[in-house]
Amino acid sequence: MTSFDLVEPETLEDAFKWLGVDDSSVRPFGGGTALMLMMKAQLFTPVRLVSLRKLGRQFEGIERSSNDGSFRIGAMTTFSQLEHSPEIRAHLPVITQTMKTLANVRVRNVATVGGNLAHGDPHLDLPPVWMALDASATIVNSSGTRTIPVGDIFSGYYETTLEQGDLIAELRVPVRPGWRSRYIKVTTRAEHDWPALGIGLSLHAEGRVIKDLRIVLSAAIDKPTRLIGAENVLRGKEIDDALLKRAGEAAADETHIETDNRGSAPYKKHLLRVHIARAVSALVTE
Ligand SMILES: Cc1cc2nc3c(=O)[nH]c(=O)nc-3n(C[C@H](O)[C@H](O)[C@H](O)COP(=O)(O)OP(=O)(O)OC[C@H]3O[C@@H](n4cnc5c(N)ncnc54)[C@H](O)[C@@H]3O)c2cc1C
Repeated sequence: MTSFDLVEPETLEDAFKWLGVDDSSVRPFGGGTALMLMMKAQLFTPVRLVSLRKLGRQFEGIERSSNDGSFRIGAMTTFSQLEHSPEIRAHLPVITQTMKTLANVRVRNVATVGGNLAHGDPHLDLPPVWMALDASATIVNSSGTRTIPVGDIFSGYYETTLEQGDLIAELRVPVRPGWRSRYIKVTTRAEHDWPALGIGLSLHAEGRVIKDLRIVLSAAIDKPTRLIGAENVLRGKEIDDALLKRAGEAAADETHIETDNRGSAPYKKHLLRVHIARAVSALVTE
């Protein structure tokens, strides 16, 4: 492996100084799980890695607002911290559920919320869940701060809207009374394998009537994407078999699904139809 610099700034000002060069081989370093794989495969040769470990409070911790109950989650929060947080388990149980089949304990102990989003891999389990929960990300750079919906981070296959020098600092996740959420990881081999498709689903129902919902598809497409057509079929309606079938058809029609080594496009469209119907029905009747 070619040698590189690893720096650990303790202030944002220093971090921006180290990152502020026009060179994509200078990168921030969260848990390093994705970076190390890319380095081992010689897909990425860094000149300098800038660890975010010592940047302090904004990048750390899981806090619940006493005003509206929403969560602030620092970008350096590890998956294990999410997994074992009693507050997350109580108010965002879909996150705890998602952790059960996400990688393994060694990865979860170091992989971070920010690195996971910035990696831009469409197969990752958490991005569709954050999007279904309507989470937003705060991004800082040497010119200031902006807050964007998590979905706006992704622009294509392993591509993001983040620019050199941008750092994801924290997530804001609302807790919406009456809403229920679920992540459906559809694997075609082992349970902990990468998904053939992932579905983040969040909905608010009264009886069998869906008042509002968000459905996000990942893995089978180039970036996590809201299924607006399927949402529109379901919103405001009382569910029955015919409606669920129409929602599944709308979902399959509105997405461009690729054939890959986890299944053909027609097979994955079939999985999508089946799992949308099952998941919506299960959440409404839960
Ligand atoms: C063996 C193995 C199994 C896995 N299985 C799964 C699985 O089943 N499901 C799943 O979802 N994932 C899985 N993963 C992937 C894992 O979730 C990601 O590698 C991890 O989330 C990346 O986070 P990180 O903190 O390690 O990122 P890093 O490797 O530190 O960084 C990834 C990218 O993000 C950038 N970056 C890091 N932090 C920030 C920040 N705060 N702001 C801006 N840019 C930043 C880096 O420069 C880099 O480009 C697996 C990984 C491994 C190694």
